[in-house]
Amino acid sequence: MIVERMPSNIIKGKADGINTRTMEMFQAFGFADKVKRETYWVNQTAFWMPDPANPAHIKRVGRVQDVADDSSEMPHILINQARLHELFLEVMQNSPSRLAPDYGWELVSVAVDETTDDHPVTVTLKDASGINWWATRTVRANYVVGCDGAHSAVRKSIGGVLHGDAANQAWGVMDILANTDFPDVRQKCLISSANEGNVLILPREGGYVFRMYVELDKLKDGEKAASRKFTQDDMIAAANRIIAPYSLDVKEVVWWSIYDIGHSITDKFDDVAEGSSRNPRVFTAGDACHTHSPKAGQGMNVSMQDTFNLGWKLVHVLQGRADASLLRSYSKERLTEAKRLVETDHEWARIMSAPTTQAERDGSEEPRIIRQFKANLEFTGGTAVKYDPPRCSPPARTRRWPRGWRSGGASIRRRWCACPTPSRCSWATWPRPMRAGASTPLRARPTAPSRARPSTSWPTGCRTTRNRL
Ligand SMILES: Cc1cc2nc3c(=O)[nH]c(=O)nc-3n(C[C@H](O)[C@H](O)[C@H](O)COP(=O)(O)OP(=O)(O)OC[C@H]3O[C@@H](n4cnc5c(N)ncnc54)[C@H](O)[C@@H]3O)c2cc1C
Repeated sequence: MIVERMPSNIIKGKADGINTRTMEMFQAFGFADKVKRETYWVNQTAFWMPDPANPAHIKRVGRVQDVADDSSEMPHILINQARLHELFLEVMQNSPSRLAPDYGWELVSVAVDETTDDHPVTVTLKDASGINWWATRTVRANYVVGCDGAHSAVRKSIGGVLHGDAANQAWGVMDILANTDFPDVRQKCLISSANEGNVLILPREGGYVFRMYVELDKLKDGEKAASRKFTQDDMIAAANRIIAPYSLDVKEVVWWSIYDIGHSITDKFDDVAEGSSRNPRVFTAGDACHTHSPKAGQGMNVSMQDTFNLGWKLVHVLQGRADASLLRSYSKERLTEAKRLVETDHEWARIMSAPTTQAERDGSEEPRIIRQFKANLEFTGGTAVKYDPPRCSPPARTRRWPRGWRSGGASIRRRWCACPTPSRCSWATWPRPMRAGASTPLRARPTAPSRARPSTSWPTGCRTTRNRL
């Protein structure tokens, strides 16, 4: 059962960047090719900085490849989050369970009865549609996953607290149709002006609409961007100041929002108290347990990667193919990743807001923002994730691992063998993480390598086995 308090799925706005690792996950759901066809592919990012000859004007300082070589066969793409929701809903509707969300119900509380293993979680819902005011429902469940955003009621129910800080900086985002003489408008661009702030441009699928993230005013300690009542016009005026000498004549604002940057994270992503030996029953995922700036384009990706990690484990446990202790690895694995994300995002936000040095301006040194961008490529692509070796044991019946399985080293593997000439690589000589045989759709489970072997007939970039995500 999926419960959502809104009356329907979103129709516009919010996230739009999908990294290569998330695209690989979409293969598991069967819609990666559809997404590839419909979307804008981000192959390079252009960087603009103040022109040393006239710092009031911006000048392009570089174009950088956006996806690290040999990291994935998938592109980095831009697509509306609403369209992604549709694709997931389609998969659910066509599945044997014909699963559809129950819209218009709000989760109020979650309670776990530790004395039973039979549906120990009690969830209380209340009507949010306004059709049956004050109507409530009680649902008994074996497991509950709270993907209910930054103000998560599930997190609060299990005693989770978001710890973090605010950058005291207001930002605006708008999806617009506009006339402009800015030459890179159909490219992803990071623009830093001398005194007016920063803009991030993201072209959108379809060829006309594009998104602009616009830096607005500094906020006082504890002040919220919402209290400043910024308007679309404030955002457009700021964008015009930042991109001078170019200009922007906005014809239509499709969607816009104002936000302040904050970074926060919870202590754990499940309901198990420190030191307790019981297995978890309630989990949080996505913004419910970590928040960060949207500019790094990671929130939606990391959120889906959380649930992918949890999803295959839950399926295994529910189908009796794994012990429930497997679920304990979710919080540990994903918390580590969320911490890395928040740290990287912090660093990135700091670098974006830092003034440029003279050496960067006169071209004698590559701008720090470009260096950092290049250094972060694998991280932003989602392919730098590494988990500790699993602590699980081989199946009790054989006491041995199936051929090709190892108990250790279960970090996420790259899916491509990086050998330039497949004819020269063999099973024996492949680097350990590279395993043969997974050109079949990704299955959401740890996969033992198939019996396939690399041979001279394998296409260039022969695929490797998917491992745990
Ligand atoms: C402007 C903007 C741009 C962004 N750009 C990007 C990007 O390019 N790439 C990227 O990866 N991320 C981006 N993000 C971040 C991304 O949108 C979020 O990280 C992502 O949506 C988190 O997903 P989630 O499911 O955890 O939470 P949410 O998207 O917040 O979803 C939570 C859902 O739970 C529902 N809900 C909440 N409480 C309850 C309750 N008590 N009962 C029932 N339902 C409830 C809400 O109605 C909502 O539908 C952006 C965010 C914003 C705001």
